[in-house]
Amino acid sequence: VIYLQELLSNPVETISLTAVIDTALCVGAGGSSGSLADKPIVRTADNRLLIPASQLKGRLRHECEKLARGLGWAVCQSPNPQNMCPQRAGLSREEESQFQRNDYEVLGDDRRHCLICQIFGNPALPSRVIFDDLICEEDPENLPEVLRPGVTINRSRGTAEDQKLYFLETSPANAKLRFTGEIHLQPDCPHHAKALTLAALHHIKALGGSKSAGLGWLRWEIEGLSVDEGDWQALLPGGGE
Ligand SMILES: [Zn+2]
Repeated sequence: VIYLQELLSNPVETISLTAVIDTALCVGAGGSSGSLADKPIVRTADNRLLIPASQLKGRLRHECEKLARGLGWAVCQSPNPQNMCPQRAGLSREEESQFQRNDYEVLGDDRRHCLICQIFGNPALPSRVIFDDLICEEDPENLPEVLRPGVTINRSRGTAEDQKLYFLETSPANAKLRFTGEIHLQPDCPHHAKALTLAALHHIKALGGSKSAGLGWLRWEIEGLSVDEGDWQALLPGGGE
């Protein structure tokens, strides 16, 4: 009974998230460039379009890092493991001293983990926020494939390299496609996570590497995320103690 009460007092909080894509979306690039940034959208086994959880988590972490630094929190340098907590290689003694604060302690570890690592994890600490893939609600049968040709431009010469013609598969323009999934805040998630996540989501106005080509602009619909005055106050370093 005691165990059950502990579970009830500290449940997993689930946020329901929908990305509404306002423009055509880059689905995947063939050709010379094959980085993850060029493939923000892939397909499930049954051919539905999806935004991978890793893509969403990476962008959200990056935005949260910028916001937290702007608010005065000491934040480690992702994504290189040796520059992240708890190692933080290459910091000066003064920079390192900014991580020696009580709220950077975690249970069962005498090393410090910054606010961002306490939410998104690092090689020594599991993530306290679990992300789903965002899956397109539209039946793939209703989505004709659209291919956009592109060429790679040689930066130094300013000319197109004709060997590097590629195609972007995009979703149809202006279809208002909806991609839906959930974010799960674990019971040991720090108090700051909700307000920081909400603020960071509003900074993500596009996904993918091709927004300059007019691909991938989006807006968010967020359900189940209630942020109160205390949550915002907790974002001020020292304000939540
Ligand atoms: Zn960190």
